[in-house]
Amino acid sequence: MTKIWAANALLPDGWAEDVLITFDAGGMIASVETGAPAAGEQIALLLPAPANGHSHAFQRAMAGLTERRGPDPRDTFWTWRALMYRFLDRLTPDHVEAIAAFVQMEMLEAGYATNVEFHYLHHRPGGAPYDNIAEMAERIAAATATTGIGLTLLPVHYQFGGCDQRPLGPGQIRFGTDPDSFARLHAASTRALTPLPADTRIGVAPHSLRAVAREALPGLAALAPEGPFHMHLAEQVAEVDEVEAAWGLRPVEWVLEHMTPDARHTFIHCTQMLSHETEGLARSGAVAGLCPITESSLGDGIFDGVRWFGAGGAVSIGSDSNIRIALSEELRTLDYSQRLRDRSRAALATPERSTGRRLYEAVLTGGAASAGRPTGAIAPGCYADLMALDTTHVDLEGRRGDTLLDSYIFAGDDRMVRDVWSAGRHVVTGGRHVARDGIVAAYRATMRDLGDSL
Ligand code: ZN
Repeated sequence: MTKIWAANALLPDGWAEDVLITFDAGGMIASVETGAPAAGEQIALLLPAPANGHSHAFQRAMAGLTERRGPDPRDTFWTWRALMYRFLDRLTPDHVEAIAAFVQMEMLEAGYATNVEFHYLHHRPGGAPYDNIAEMAERIAAATATTGIGLTLLPVHYQFGGCDQRPLGPGQIRFGTDPDSFARLHAASTRALTPLPADTRIGVAPHSLRAVAREALPGLAALAPEGPFHMHLAEQVAEVDEVEAAWGLRPVEWVLEHMTPDARHTFIHCTQMLSHETEGLARSGAVAGLCPITESSLGDGIFDGVRWFGAGGAVSIGSDSNIRIALSEELRTLDYSQRLRDRSRAALATPERSTGRRLYEAVLTGGAASAGRPTGAIAPGCYADLMALDTTHVDLEGRRGDTLLDSYIFAGDDRMVRDVWSAGRHVVTGGRHVARDGIVAAYRATMRDLGDSL
């Protein structure tokens, strides 16, 4: 048993002092006592560390390469996507492993304990499978063994180039599976995770309603009956229009009508919803997988957080394109988007909870559902996914309770994160990942290999 003692900690029923946490060798919290004498590792301020609910690891390496205008009259999500397809054609399994390790290290240093990896780069350039169909999943697993982050792997099924079931385009053929080959890939990906610790999870992810046959959805869900089910949904107007033209319903309307969404389901983005869709999906218990920095970067639009939270909806936070890994900035960006749209302030706060506290607790709970992992609270039965903030930071001077979280999110940044544990693995100390130097060296070599243009 390992002990951590915190002078202040955020527990499920609020802020507590002199908190002694005990967890077992598997990283599962066995007991939490308050008013306890100091013992074990001593921390000033301890928070549960949330899961990063949505990531495409390889995209980290193209951050900074897509900020120029191309020949199109407008630069949009779709022109960005064309560049992303061009970029990924260069990637080898060695590159993917180095990039994944780097981005997982950044996630840990930013305070995330878990990487929910929406994994769709499966095949060789040209689309032929590797000798091991799950080669790329094995590389994500190898990165995870290096970094010690908690992993929820979501192998992605991506069959078609659109609702009319057209074949995948040249940029998409490294993703392609049919239901049979996807079942083999999923089984091989499950085997690829066996060397990892017991907190590792596997789920399943149809890429989007555009990319899979509607009839295939129940069979996909059955491949990981205990795991989370994720799907991109209603990110872009053109995507909503395509689904509506093909099937007569908008994407969220279709999900509400033909699926039974609940907390097992995370729908990524949900930017383009009408008010009845927002309220209906929020009440279903499904999680909205929000990626505010990426949604800003890609010009997706503004998620209707006020209406979603008002209807009791659950949210998780994901770094998606990984253009920047910054937990506090994701939360700040989400709230600022509501303020800019509505010309209001503190739109998501309640009389009981400040903005920072409400957002942070929301992504703890929603992130646990998105990861399919017992986490999100400092409580027995949850993994010891923990983050210590640096209370000596000048922006936290004199702060207590909820104002600590507000100052961290709105005035501070991830440099306040001092220590992170994932399922009890103490992988960030003094703000640095314990294997940082080797991970950065491998990533630099990959970046030199890939060059700086698209
Ligand atoms: Zn995504």
